[in-house]
Amino acid sequence: MTQLVQLNMPPVSPAPTAGPLTDSFGRVHTDLRISVTDRCNIRCFYCMPEEGAQFSPISELLSFAQIERFVRAARDLGVTKIRLTGGEPLLRPGLTELVSKLSDMTGIRDLALTTNGVLLARHAKPLFDAGLRRLNVHVDTLDRERFRTISRRDDLGRVLAGIEAAQAVGFPIIKINAVAIKGLTEPDVVPLVEFGRKNGVEVRFIEFMPLDAQHLWSLDRVLTADEMIAVLEREYGPLRPVPDADPRAPATEYEFPDGYRMGFIASVSRPFCMNCNRLRLTADGKMRYCLFANEETDVRPLLEGEDRFAELSAAIRATVWQKWIGHEINRVSFQPPSRPMYSIGG
Ligand code: SAM
Ligand code: SF4
Repeated sequence: MTQLVQLNMPPVSPAPTAGPLTDSFGRVHTDLRISVTDRCNIRCFYCMPEEGAQFSPISELLSFAQIERFVRAARDLGVTKIRLTGGEPLLRPGLTELVSKLSDMTGIRDLALTTNGVLLARHAKPLFDAGLRRLNVHVDTLDRERFRTISRRDDLGRVLAGIEAAQAVGFPIIKINAVAIKGLTEPDVVPLVEFGRKNGVEVRFIEFMPLDAQHLWSLDRVLTADEMIAVLEREYGPLRPVPDADPRAPATEYEFPDGYRMGFIASVSRPFCMNCNRLRLTADGKMRYCLFANEETDVRPLLEGEDRFAELSAAIRATVWQKWIGHEINRVSFQPPSRPMYSIGG
């Protein structure tokens, strides 16, 4: 596995006050992930505990007006791409209102939503009508028992119905996110790709990252991109790596002999930190420069009204400027962040 060079020292110079939204390594940030809730209706073991998940009080969640204010400030600094996530974003009441506001916002060129799909059948049309066009639906397995083992819920049928509904409504881009776990999901690699090929959706396998609430992660539970490629090549023959259309995108894509494309988000075995252009806003108003960051900036007080817009812009610049060179999953000294995935927003 790649070892990241340890250069994670905070920058000594202050953040720039003009120009692109850059960190001290020159990475320009254009991509914002917003968590709209930390609650979820299923309990994937690599994310949430089965019982006793700690949620922020509802009163502490950012309002849509606050989220919009943050987006306007980020947009003015160069952010063009937004992904709504959670927790499970479809649990947030009135989400279509936010989608509608963001999809109409000048300068936002790309709006996407990541969902577990359980409630998608009901929400697909209102989301489409509100202007959403890109969906990532999380499906780790097509096996009902394994779905239940992973998510501690019996909801595979609802998720598949959600994908069908989204296709029927006309979503042009639907991708599948599948977390890959060694010793568990090997039998799912080929069936998920077959599902993707048949249904015209791109499957992305995501390596298991140390972001689970119960600290169950270990390196030997990571089913790596190379291991999955070997499984797929045995079945389909050589896969062709696709030259990166967008080198900042986290997935490495491959093309099958018949032209079908799929990808891997190989954060553990092939860290892509040097291409990272993402910043994050948690549901309770903390800004983060990395999923794995151990520090965050509380921007909620700056989102109360319009009068603190300049301070908000400065806080966004300062947080991005503090960004480290990259996560250190592969180092023995690695410490997972205090917030698990559901509370950060994946
Ligand atoms: N609930 C929605 C969902 O599951 O798609 C959105 C939030 S979820 C945190 C976002 C993505 O994070 C999911 O697609 C899931 O695949 C991924 N994820 C969660 N925990 C993970 C982990 N420990 N390692 C890798 N990916 C993870
Ligand atoms: Fe919920 Fe998504 Fe976490 Fe699974 S990965 S528990 S669906 S937030």
